[in-house]
Amino acid sequence: KQRDPDQPEFFQAVDEVVASVKPLLKERPELVDVLARMLEPERVLHFRVAWQDDDGRTEINRGFRVVMNTACGPGKGGLRFHPSVDLSTLKFLAFEQTFKNALTGLPLGAAKGGSDFNPRGRSDDEVMRFCQAFMSALYTEIGPDTDVPAGDIGVGAREIGFLYGQYKRLTRRADGAMTGKGSNWGGSLVRPEATGYGLVYFARHIVADADESFDGAKCLVSGSGNVALHAAAKLISLGAKVVTLSDSSGVIHEPDGLTEDGLAFITELKTVRRGRIKEYTEEFSESAEYVEGGKPWQFAGDYAFPCATQNELDGDDAAALVDAGVRGVFEGANMPCTAEAIEAIKSGSLMYSPGKASNAGGVGVSGLEMAQNAGHVFWDEEEVDSKLQSIMEDIYTAAKDTADRFDLGGDLQAGANIAGFERVADAMVAQGVW
Ligand code: NDP
Repeated sequence: KQRDPDQPEFFQAVDEVVASVKPLLKERPELVDVLARMLEPERVLHFRVAWQDDDGRTEINRGFRVVMNTACGPGKGGLRFHPSVDLSTLKFLAFEQTFKNALTGLPLGAAKGGSDFNPRGRSDDEVMRFCQAFMSALYTEIGPDTDVPAGDIGVGAREIGFLYGQYKRLTRRADGAMTGKGSNWGGSLVRPEATGYGLVYFARHIVADADESFDGAKCLVSGSGNVALHAAAKLISLGAKVVTLSDSSGVIHEPDGLTEDGLAFITELKTVRRGRIKEYTEEFSESAEYVEGGKPWQFAGDYAFPCATQNELDGDDAAALVDAGVRGVFEGANMPCTAEAIEAIKSGSLMYSPGKASNAGGVGVSGLEMAQNAGHVFWDEEEVDSKLQSIMEDIYTAAKDTADRFDLGGDLQAGANIAGFERVADAMVAQGVW
C-alpha cells in the first residue's frame, strides 16, 4: 500500500481475499509467501494508442495488459474500454480473475487489460481505428498458449471483431487468440449469454438450498449490458419478475416485471442503437418509471443482482436492501459490493454470492471456446449450455464444501476465495520459485 498508494481498488480486492484465506494459512503457513508472490503481477504492459478520429485529429489513449498469474494456464481475462480504466482497476480485475479462473477447474491463468478510451458516442469507424491501433501494440504479447483476451465493459461483439481482425491481419494466424468471437468465425455458442446465465444457474443452487425459487420472485438487476441483459433473460424464463435495469445515467422500475418484448426492446436499444435506458419509459412502457441518477437498490424486491460495475452497491444501499426484505444478493459484476455492503449483507443474514464465483460462467465458456478452437471443433448450444451448468454447479459445490471444511457457517465468499487460492498456490509451489 505504501508503494502504490494510488491503487485503492486493487487493495480493496486484496484485503477481501487476504482476510478470508486466513483459516487455510493457519493450517498451511508455508503458503503465506505464495500469497505475497501472487500480489505482484507477472507482467504489466503499458502502451500508447494513437489513432485518428473522424475529423482527422490524432487522439491518444492509454492501453494496458496486466498478466497476473499463469500458474494454471495461459493468461485469460477481458479487455475493458472505459474512461475510468487505470492500473488500479486492471490490477484488481486481474487479481479477482486469478481465483475465478482457478474455480472453473479449467487450465486457465489470469490477466486483464483495456484502455481509458470511451466507445460511447464514437462512430463505428472510429471504434474500428481505435481497436486496430490497440491491437497493433498488443498482438506480439498474446496468443492461444500465452494470453487470450476477451470482452468486458465497453468491449462487446463489435470491438472483439475489430480487435481479432487486426490480430489476424498482423499475425496471419486464425488461432483463437481471443474469445468472444462471433459463432461463424471461431466463437462458441452461448459465450455471449454465459456470464448472465451462469450467474442465475449459480444463484439457483443457493436459493434452492434455502427451499426458495425464482418463480414469481421480484428481482432487482442493475446494468443493461452483456451480463445484466442475459441474467434478466434467464430469470424471466424461470418465471421471475425482473423489476429493474439501469445504466450509468439512471434506473427504470417496471413494477410487474419486464416482459420478453420489453427486454427485447431494451436489448436492441442498448446493443444496436446504443441509446439510454430512459428511452424505455419514453418509447415502450407506460407503467414503468425512470429515476435519473437512481439505483435499483432503492426499490423493493426478493433478490438483488448487481451486474454493472465495481462498488455500485455501498453500505447504505445494502442497509436499504435489508430493510426492504431482500433475501439474497448475487454478484454478476466484479466487486460490485463495497466492503461495508458485504458486512451489512452478512449481518442481515442475506444469501450472498461473490462475483468471482457467481460470474465465472463467462470465462468458463471462454475456456470452452479455447478448447473448441484448439480441437477445430464446434459444439452445439445444448452441449455448451450443459457444460456451463456443470461448471457453475462444481464452483458452487467447491465453495460450499470448502466453507464446511473450515467450519465457516456456509460462507460462500470465504469458501470460494480459499478454494481458488489453494488451487493456484499449489500450482505455484509445484512449479518452483518464479
Ligand atoms: P457492458 O459494457 O456490456 O455493460 C456495462 C453496464 O454497466 C452498462 O449498462 C453500463 O451503463 C453500466 N455501467 C458501467 N459503468 C457504470 C457506472 N460507473 N455506474 C453505473 N453503471 C455503469 O459490460 P458487461 O455487462 O460485460 O460487464 C458488467 C460487469 O460484469 C463488469 O463488472 C464486468 O467486469 C463483469 N463481468 C463481465 C463478464 C462478461 O462476460 N462480459 C464476465 C465476468 C464479469 P452505460 O450503458 O451507461 O455505460
